[in-house]
Parts: sequence; C-alpha cells; structure tokens
Amino acid sequence: MKTEIRRSKKRKKTVQAKIVANRLIIFAPEWIDDKRLGEIIEKIRKKLKRRELKRRLDEKGNLEKTAQSLNRRYFSGRLKFNSIEWSTNQSKRFGSCQYREGKIRISHRLAQMPEWVRDYVIVHELAHLLEPNHSPRFWKLANRYPYTERARGFLMAKGMEEDETLRHHKQKKGWATSKP
Ligand SMILES: [Zn+2]
Repeated sequence: MKTEIRRSKKRKKTVQAKIVANRLIIFAPEWIDDKRLGEIIEKIRKKLKRRELKRRLDEKGNLEKTAQSLNRRYFSGRLKFNSIEWSTNQSKRFGSCQYREGKIRISHRLAQMPEWVRDYVIVHELAHLLEPNHSPRFWKLANRYPYTERARGFLMAKGMEEDETLRHHKQKKGWATSKP
C-alpha cells in the first residue's frame, strides 16, 4: 500500500491515518520530525496488518462452532458465553477470558497450531467461565479434555504462557490516532 503524508500547520497534536482507494494517507502536524513520524507510521502499518489478519481469521468463522461443540462434549452444553474471537495482540499469552462478560479471546498464533492444541486452549478458556482462577477445581474441569497435559507441554515449548483471567478489560482506543 502506498503511503501519502499530508502535513498541516493547523493540526496540533495527533497523527491520523485513513485508507482511501488503497492508499494510506497520514495526516500529521507540521512540527513533527521525520524520524518520529516514521515510527508512528510503522506502528499504524502494524496495526493495520493485525486487523487484516484478524479479519481473515474471523472470516473462517469456525471458532464459535468449535467452542460450541467442545462445550457440548465436555460441559454438557451448559456454558454460556457471548463471544469467542481471535485476538492479534496477544502473542505470548494463548488466550483470555472475561468471565463476567462471557468474552473469550484466542491468540492468532493458535490458528497455526495443531487442532488438539487449539481445542485445549478453547476448553481452558471455557473452564474459566465456571472457575476464574487456576485452582484445583479449575484443573479438574480443564482435564476433562484428554490432551490437556500434552497441550500444555506443547505450548510451553513454543514459549507461550498461560492466560490471566481478566475481570475487566480495558478496550484500547481507536487504532488510527497516535500521539507523537
Ligand atoms: Zn487460565
């Protein structure tokens, strides 16, 4: 994608980006130096890339279906959750569960791993809907899935860490604005 930079004296603080006809247009204050602006553009490009990856993964749409079938198999279908989505900003942690809101996010890295590993992570996050902490009760639930121990070893070898349960999740603000 081509980048076009438009500097303006009127613009005081923020850098903004917009995609128009397959061009990335950057609106920047006049005072900002090239190096700093370059860094900001790089960040914006990365965010766009992650967004595109997420869109492609979500398009496949099998995450929700898989979660429902695991819910039926290991939890008698009694778990309720509002959404399960790929996330592209957790590359170390394999997932997260906001159990109060019933929102589950799975790291995009799992999309490239074997199905039995991905299924373990989904079961893990589903189990958090019943038990927020990594307590013995939690592991009893997670171990209903037969490959739990094996999958944990696999993920550890990949350098992935266990999730943290999130009670409240702070939503990041819009991707397109960045303060220099
Ligand atoms: Zn966990």
